[in-house]
Amino acid sequence: MTENALIQAARLAGRTSLDELSGKRLLAQYGVAVPKSVVVQAGDTLAPKLRDLRAPYVVKVMSQDILHKSDVGGVRVRIQDAAAVEGAIREMLGRSEIARARLDGFLVEEMAPPGHELVIGGLRDPQFGPLVMVGLGGILVEVLKDVAFRICPIEPIDALEMLDELKGRALLDGVRGQAPVCKRAIVDALMRIAGADGLLTRLGDDIAEADINPLIVSERGAVAVDARFILRPEGTPV
Ligand code: ADP
Ligand code: MG
Repeated sequence: MTENALIQAARLAGRTSLDELSGKRLLAQYGVAVPKSVVVQAGDTLAPKLRDLRAPYVVKVMSQDILHKSDVGGVRVRIQDAAAVEGAIREMLGRSEIARARLDGFLVEEMAPPGHELVIGGLRDPQFGPLVMVGLGGILVEVLKDVAFRICPIEPIDALEMLDELKGRALLDGVRGQAPVCKRAIVDALMRIAGADGLLTRLGDDIAEADINPLIVSERGAVAVDARFILRPEGTPV
């Protein structure tokens, strides 16, 4: 097992996955862009805590009991100020799934620049070790299963070929007058996750599953706005 402090802390707390903040910190350690964020608790005085964040904000419930936050009303985007953040938290606490969950707090973060939503995933093949997956987000990944896989570690050429394998690849080049997205930023994110020094390649013995959904890719860059890492049970044979 590796010595990553975020993973060790989660294990010490008896967790089988990283919370969203830790997952994003892990991505940031490996150079993947994540939104600037802060964790707040219901009842906190928010204005000072939000001082370093630029509005509009996103508010998300943090709970190990909640897998898909939007399914339970646990994500609100485009929130303009501290009072509205407070209102969003109050409203979330009024929902039964959230009220009865074990809560770690609420993540308040900056909005990523608008763009296309991609998915980067990681899983472990018993024979080949860590695999990386990339796909176009939303309905394309859920319904069309438009994804490409490689064994880690990958080279930049592999990352580009993965994007070329996607049926919806034309979306990345810009259709109907949309600007093309920054493919270099996607390749860079894939390398930081699955390259020779990448997160999955380095921490593969600790990570059973990774799900960055979505990575929002604009003309200028790519930001991982959601991150979920499921840990392998300690002592699992490599
Ligand atoms: P879920 O647990 O439901 O997958 P997400 O954290 O992925 O929750 O948020 C749901 C959706 O909200 C995302 O797919 C994205 O469209 C939007 N979103 C979340 N965070 C941000 C952000 N920081 N900037 C812009 N959009 C965001
Ligand atoms: Mg998500």
